[in-house]
Amino acid sequence: MINLRNVSKFYYKKGMIASGISRVNLKMDLGEFVVITGESGSGKSTLLNVISGMDTYEEGEMYVDGRETSHFSEKDFADYRKRYIGYIFQNFNLIGSYTVYQNVEIVLLINGFRRKYIKQKTREILAKVGLSEHANTRASKLSGGQKQRVAIARALARETDIIVADEPTGNLDSSSAGEIVKLLSEIARDKLVIVVTHNYEQFSEYATRKIKMHDGKIAEDVKISRRGELAGSAASDTVQDVGRSRKGIQTGKISASSKVKLGIRNTFNVVPKFVLLLVVFTFLITAVTSQYTSYLAQKDEAEKLGSNSYFQNFSLDSMILRKSDSTPFTGADYEAISSVFNVKSIAEYDVLLDNILFLGDDESNYITAFPASIDNFDLPLAEGRLPSSEDEVILAISEDDTLFDDALAEKILDKTYDVDIDHMGNRAAMKVVGTAYKDDNNPLEYYSDVYMSDALLDRILAGTYQANSDISVAAGGMEQTSEGEDAGYSICPSDKVAKGEAFVSKDLESFFDDGTAKGKELKVSVSNMYYERTGTFRISELYTEKTYKNLLGRNDYEEMAGDIFVSESDYGDLFTNDNYQATVYVSDVDKIDETKALIGEMGYEHLPLKDVLVPFGSGILSLIQVPVMIIVAIAMLFIAYFVIRLVLRSRSGYFSILRMLGLGRKAMRRIMDVELIAVSSISFAIFLGVCMLVSQGIVSISYVEGLIKYLTPVHYAVLCGVVLLMSYIISGKFSRSLFKKSAMSTYREEA
Ligand code: ADP
Ligand code: MG
Repeated sequence: MINLRNVSKFYYKKGMIASGISRVNLKMDLGEFVVITGESGSGKSTLLNVISGMDTYEEGEMYVDGRETSHFSEKDFADYRKRYIGYIFQNFNLIGSYTVYQNVEIVLLINGFRRKYIKQKTREILAKVGLSEHANTRASKLSGGQKQRVAIARALARETDIIVADEPTGNLDSSSAGEIVKLLSEIARDKLVIVVTHNYEQFSEYATRKIKMHDGKIAEDVKISRRGELAGSAASDTVQDVGRSRKGIQTGKISASSKVKLGIRNTFNVVPKFVLLLVVFTFLITAVTSQYTSYLAQKDEAEKLGSNSYFQNFSLDSMILRKSDSTPFTGADYEAISSVFNVKSIAEYDVLLDNILFLGDDESNYITAFPASIDNFDLPLAEGRLPSSEDEVILAISEDDTLFDDALAEKILDKTYDVDIDHMGNRAAMKVVGTAYKDDNNPLEYYSDVYMSDALLDRILAGTYQANSDISVAAGGMEQTSEGEDAGYSICPSDKVAKGEAFVSKDLESFFDDGTAKGKELKVSVSNMYYERTGTFRISELYTEKTYKNLLGRNDYEEMAGDIFVSESDYGDLFTNDNYQATVYVSDVDKIDETKALIGEMGYEHLPLKDVLVPFGSGILSLIQVPVMIIVAIAMLFIAYFVIRLVLRSRSGYFSILRMLGLGRKAMRRIMDVELIAVSSISFAIFLGVCMLVSQGIVSISYVEGLIKYLTPVHYAVLCGVVLLMSYIISGKFSRSLFKKSAMSTYREEA
């Protein structure tokens, strides 16, 4: 049956070669009870491992039923072990968390036996080894002798021809050892039993052959005849007569349902491990969700942020109001508001507060100032005098304006600035005849104020409305729209143009099919956050670069080219000096909310900043946030992976036992898949359950409320998919790493 010819096995360790067994010649047959003895290190275990296909050999040839094995791959040896070998270990190698029944059952499950047969066979064998009443006891609770009996039962379950046992009594007291020896002798009748022991005396009563090893060689090989029993080849013939296949037992593959069964069993049978995995997965799910939710929340916030071209003046003691019915403010409104608690003053020309003027000669040297009405000027003059004509102004300088100093104050007095009053080319001359200092301690307000006549203010007001409007020019079936300060047609007031008429650039002829514009109709539509208005004009003159100065009396063709000139009264109608917005200043900043509430009750709306926001867009956010999110997610997956791997590794003993019992890598992987997917599904179900309870308002957990605020069913589905995929990947990686080493070396590491 087994025939070793000059077989040698070497161990390679750190460049050293140690001989395990050398040039061993040995023939063994069914029916033998071979006892191998010898001092420690003499090669007993090595011989046993070579015979059982647990380890490879380097020299010679081992024949199994006449077949050579020197060319066997790891898979061939696995197959050989499955068909021929039942292995009993010194340290039992039971699965402690399984019951006695399950420990025997598993070897049959792994080898693909039928369910009914497994049940019957397992009970039969447990009866044979005398453990029937302990069938449902956990293996870890058994005594040493009982454990070894389970191990024997497991080795017997598959009815292999060869049973090998390495020091099976080594860890047992003498009375338990006696029982085990007796049990082994009973099963030896139609099998080849090979036992390695220090203590030959224990086996002497039953041994049919005694082999003594010394220094890797067989020192002694004695056959012992027993009364009433046939030894040697005769027994082998008997077994052949029984009709057993010469190729060992027929084994099948583990069934899918058994994989699921084992996976589910492994999920729950070690409670601390189950809880730990559950915690890891729940942590992972929560962490990924909270990471993603915080991204969504930030995106949401970012959409509320942005530039706003309306409110430049955001003093803390102010609030911006509009009327709920969107009509302009009247004197009655101002009066009503000014009598409310805590109201200090009202800026009637509110829009102007957000219109900064630049007073300067060039781009780099200028004063920034809010326009204000001279009627409201109540500061002491620092230099100069009060204005006496419409184009004279007073500059009230902000102490916080870092660009400003006394030297500059000297220079600006009596200077005339040509000021762009709407950032669109409409200009007005302003002569600074007096200076003052703002008594402002608001850290946010670092602009100066320029106090001017109402005539100038009206122009600025109209210009501001224009700057904040979409203007659409329609003529001859064509229409062009400009938005705010974007390029397009601007409207300019001119005292040269009669009411109802417009001077336009000759270029506008292209709007008309017949190429003539003069005398035709032009429609100007204005829309902004306050109103929509339309004006219809007759084109009375077309200007060119040459005729511009003559027609309009201006020198700024370069800057104004293309603009539409209308009469001052038409201009006033389009860009009203009505007020749709007012700013209220309060005396006590701390009580501004009370004032807001009171004014709100009167039918005025506090204008929130976000209503007039031009969002920055989430592009920039995504550019930084998305990679960060991905990195954090990957980091969390890694942490989870390492923890889960640690948990799995703590059970690599379990996995190597399964492997030694003949389980293949793929099947191992499936069992692990089932386990991890079961745990992750349970974690996900718990997570989902908590989310549902919170969203239904049944329980209140503020953290979870924040978490689920932005989540849709799609998010839950994706999350579930990610978790399941991760479980699948981890089990794949781990099962591969398990199988990188041979069964024996995994076992050695465990032992
Ligand atoms: P026994 O079981 O009789 O005590 P072994 O078969 O375990 O002896 O060992 C035989 C020889 O092989 C010894 O010299 C031992 O040091 C060596 N050996 C056994 N296993 C290994 C191993 N995994 N690596 C290196 N040397 C080993
Ligand atoms: Mg040994």
